[in-house]
Amino acid sequence: MHDRREFLGLAGAGGGGLLLGAHGAGNPSTLLGLSAGPDANQTAQSLHEAFETIPVDDTHCHPLTFNDAETTTEQFVERMALSAFPMDRYFPRGVYREWLDADPDRRAKLDADHDIERIRGDVLEQASQTVFLRFMVKEMAAFLGCDETFEAVIEARNARGVDYASYLNDLFADAKIDNAMLDMGYREGMGSDEVTQFETAIAPTRGRRILRVDSILAGLLPEDLELDEIEVAFLREIEEGLDGTGNLGAPSYGMKSYLLPRIGLIKPLFDRTIARTNWDEFRRLRARGEVPEPDGDDRDIYWELQKDTLRYLHSLALEACLERNMPMQFHAGDGEAPRGIMRNQDPFLMEEMVRFERNGVMRMPQIIMIHAGYPLIGRGTWLTHLYPNCHFELSLATPLIHHGLLRMYLEVLEVVPLSKILFGSDAYNLPEFYWLAAKWGRRFLAQAFAVYVDAGILTSSEAIAGARMILHENNRRLYHLED
Ligand SMILES: [Zn+2]
Repeated sequence: MHDRREFLGLAGAGGGGLLLGAHGAGNPSTLLGLSAGPDANQTAQSLHEAFETIPVDDTHCHPLTFNDAETTTEQFVERMALSAFPMDRYFPRGVYREWLDADPDRRAKLDADHDIERIRGDVLEQASQTVFLRFMVKEMAAFLGCDETFEAVIEARNARGVDYASYLNDLFADAKIDNAMLDMGYREGMGSDEVTQFETAIAPTRGRRILRVDSILAGLLPEDLELDEIEVAFLREIEEGLDGTGNLGAPSYGMKSYLLPRIGLIKPLFDRTIARTNWDEFRRLRARGEVPEPDGDDRDIYWELQKDTLRYLHSLALEACLERNMPMQFHAGDGEAPRGIMRNQDPFLMEEMVRFERNGVMRMPQIIMIHAGYPLIGRGTWLTHLYPNCHFELSLATPLIHHGLLRMYLEVLEVVPLSKILFGSDAYNLPEFYWLAAKWGRRFLAQAFAVYVDAGILTSSEAIAGARMILHENNRRLYHLED
């Protein structure tokens, strides 16, 4: 039999095993109920108390609809779980959407033909058997003042959902979120009014918009246009977005790209002739119906066929950010089906874009690698260690890996300068994602810093100053948030 301390040490926990072992050396029974976690020692508890007063800036997140004001346990899991994202792809095209909206007779017929109820049930059953969900239920039950069961939590949440704006407001106030950097690329078709409704509900939290490269391209590339025409329209939209109020009627603070999970290695391309040759060939194939579906069996070929065009246009976008000293977020880790190609998400494949070299000079655009490179965390941290213009961001893994955040934060703190770690949630669909990220972010950041304080590596005040940088100062400096 191993005692708990030995177990944690033996568990290894991503290179932090020995430190974790030392960290577990409190007397857990006297610490139950304290907010840094019942397993946290006195150092972690007092750091957590300090971190609770530090406001959070969420570097990467999304605006939310009000469609989840009333929900069920099943719907909640479907909206939360990444494994449920491709639900419609488990059936022939259009069938799942039809099933959702169908009357009982039609639904029964679709079930008989496609076994939808059972397949959907299996997907949601698997997604609901996570430690994440069990932990979330406890946290939400405490917040809502109800029993610690999923059913009770959803019932209490629905009672609050009658005034959903005030529920959102309470979650954001409890999480002490000052700024939410909203990636407008994923917004479930929300228009300007719906985004404003969300921003109004979360005030005084400020929603600050990020312009999505891929959304601009999604409006241009399906048209039958020459590359030169695309380029002119693309640059005009970027200009309106970055210099004016072209991001659904509001200004932008930077850009975001989803190119890495599509093509893998991204090398900058500045030669228009190469891009034009590639685009002309792609258009020829497309006109002949020889281009595969973007998210089907040959999705990698779909992206490969237009790779030079995409490299060229993304290089123009990064150039626009560089000129304005604005950061650009690159999706680099985690990711979701059916769009992201998992094998392409190695953070090292971003190195050439981080260098952004021209005429033998590395030009240092401000690049934020979002999603912590997860699960290749160490590769993301090392790239950030090497290149001063490369920043490390913690979202999606925060809050998704819950207790694993202790291990991850320790790994990040190993080599990433404190000035380049950015807090983020990647919150989508459900407001609880924002809240859990801030709550667990502070909790496990306190535990991670406590390891360094107990080891005599950092003082408590250095740890608190470091947390302040991670939780909001770095974000404000990088995005030039002055008001
Ligand atoms: Zn996102």
